[in-house]
Parts: sequence; C-alpha cells; structure tokens
Amino acid sequence: MRKDEGHPIDMALLPAVPVGLPKVLGLVVSGEATSRAEIARRSGLARSTVGQQIDHLVGHGILQENEAGESVRGRPPRVLTLSPRAGTVVVADVDTLATRVAVADLGGRVLAQETVGVPVGAGPEVVLKAVTERLFDLLERCGREPDRVRKVVMGLPGPVDSQRGWAVRPTGMPGWDGYPVAERLRTAFRAPALVDNDANLMALGEAARDEVDTPLLGIKIGTGIGAGIVTVDGEVYRGADGAEGDVGHIRSVGGGDVLCACGNVGCVGALASHRAVLRGLGIPESTEDDPLHGTHTLAERVANNDPSAVRALRQAATEIGELAAMLVYMFNPRTLVLGGPLSELRDDMLSGVRAVVYQRALPLATRKLTITTTQPGENSAIHGGVALALRDVFSERGIARMLVDDGGVA
Ligand SMILES: [Zn+2]
Repeated sequence: MRKDEGHPIDMALLPAVPVGLPKVLGLVVSGEATSRAEIARRSGLARSTVGQQIDHLVGHGILQENEAGESVRGRPPRVLTLSPRAGTVVVADVDTLATRVAVADLGGRVLAQETVGVPVGAGPEVVLKAVTERLFDLLERCGREPDRVRKVVMGLPGPVDSQRGWAVRPTGMPGWDGYPVAERLRTAFRAPALVDNDANLMALGEAARDEVDTPLLGIKIGTGIGAGIVTVDGEVYRGADGAEGDVGHIRSVGGGDVLCACGNVGCVGALASHRAVLRGLGIPESTEDDPLHGTHTLAERVANNDPSAVRALRQAATEIGELAAMLVYMFNPRTLVLGGPLSELRDDMLSGVRAVVYQRALPLATRKLTITTTQPGENSAIHGGVALALRDVFSERGIARMLVDDGGVA
C-alpha cells in the first residue's frame, strides 16, 4: 500500500503473489501444518518451492520460525507460526449508547477490547474520533504497531451500503446518512476498511463458532430490531441497497397505532425492542453515571421477578417469536440466534420465542432448528468483524498487499 494515500492501491498495481504462497500461509495460519516437511507433504508442493515461500514469508515478517522443544537426536524441530509483526485487524461494533472496540491478531485471537461510552447520536465525527483514539490506545497497550493494521471493520446499527461504506437513511442516527465512514477509517488507519450492519456482523460471529450449523438467522434486539442471515456457504445474505434484515419495521399484527421512529405505526421494533420495553416500564435508557442504566435496571428487575418487568419481557418475546416464525418460513435456517440486551435475559426471552416459533412454523422448518441466544458477555459482532477482516487479509489481494506493505523488513 502506498502509505501517503491512505487507501489500498489497485490490484492491478500489486505484484502477483508467488505460486504456492497462499497455500503455505494458509496451512500455517490454520495450524494444519507447522513444519517445512509437513507443509510440503500436505500442500503437494515441491520442498524447494515450500522452502522459498517460507523464506519469503519469514523475510517479510509474516511468519516466524522457532526451535520448539527437544528432539530425540540431532537438531530440534523448527516450528512455524504467525509472527506478531504480521499485524492486526481492528473492529468496532457501534451501538446506540456505546461502542465496543477490539484489536485481534491475524490468527483471530482478540488481544484487547473495551467499551467506548459515546452514543451514536453524537454523530459520526465524534464517534469515529473517540473510537479511533481508543483503538490506537489498545494497539499501543498490546505492543502492536499502528502501521501494521491490515483491516478495519465497523458495524453500524442501521442499514449500511457496504460497497460505498456508509449508512443509508438510518433512524436515530443524525449525520450518519451517507457519511463516508469507510473512507475516514481508511485514512485514520492507513488500511482497507469495511462497514457493515451490526446484525450481519453478529450473525457472522455466531456462524463462526464451532459446532454451529448454517444457514443461520441472527436477530438482534436492541434499540431497534435487526436480522442477519449467513448462508450455508458462510456468506452474509445481501440485499440490493443494504436494507436487508431491517425487520424491525415489519408491521406487527397487533401493532395498533404505536408510532415508530421510522414514521410508520405498528412496527414490531416499536413494540418489542429493548428501547420499547424500557419505555413501557418507565426505565430511562441511560443516566449520567451509567450509559447502560436501562439494561442493568431491567436485568435486575427481571432477576427479582418484578411482575411488570417479567410481563413486558414476555410480551416482547411473543412479538419477536411471531417475527421469527415468519423469517423461519422464509429462510429455513438451521440455527436461530437471538442477540442484544433483551436476549441476555435468557430464559424468559428464549422460552417465549421458542414457544411461538414451534407453534407457528411447520415441522419441516423446525425439526432440526436450534433456537438459542448469544453467550452473555460475549460480543458476537466483534468476532464476526474479526472473521470478516481476516477473510480479506488472507485473500489473494490481501496477501499481495501484505507483501508490498512490509514496512521495509525483507
Ligand atoms: Zn418502523
């Protein structure tokens, strides 16, 4: 990458990646093979080719080769791993009240993560500044070089045109419509950047877990309600304009004339989102001391079996169950995951949604369907963002970029 321009150079200008190199790198990154001999055996490449490519990757600071343990006789075996100098990917999951930020290595391990308490309503410039600063802090704390960030991924809580890298007419996000988020991130980190919808990232993160089957439908119940679909090939289903999964504005049968932020009435998001439940109970979303006051207070009241809170949660679960049943008909997923703060009130939400889905959807669609929630305290969108970033880093183009952008090591 030409650092002065702050954006990736065109593929046409990148030198071709040497034959066999992506394969060698892939075997080491996945941990399938970690010695020269094993790589030659598993790749089917000539030992001399493997040797050349490993020297190339070590020379560029992408792999490192260390002596490991003791050998029975002769030289100890040498083990190949990703070098810490290979770089990092950074991810931000922007939510209504706060943003989760994380730094991960190229093996997909999250090295550090934190919450930045800036509301999305503060506008893109304020949010991006706070998020970028915190990510640079995290990089420094992890001892990682800021100029070796290989990819930036940001999730936004609204419809996103991921080709252009901005939000499209999001509700409750003043200033974000068409704001060039990806471009700003590219400039700040001097690395390629990608912007996606938060529910898409959440679904990707869940689909990346071991023993989770696809197709996967993720429903995020936050300020609004959004959904993401991961197909059986591991790809996010994308609509024509980035409005896919904006299911919170589907009209609920019993929605009446409850006004939604989008201007319509009776939207399921206006009845059953986390924000709607808090509003119905008269709990403020955030206070000066605690940006997540609403989340904490509702959890407490549900845990104490407060009747009005439990009732509100069950009503929301029924609404979301109706929505989920409809989506199950449409997409026939193998896994349905509920995420967001309401889903963390695990038992009541989950049992309510399950009851409706099993009652409404036909047996063929539910026979092998697993309905579950995200793991409490785990941010699936961060994991999804890391997975998406690494896909690009280890693509042909990503590898070519890394070989050019070696910071003068070689
Ligand atoms: Zn609406």
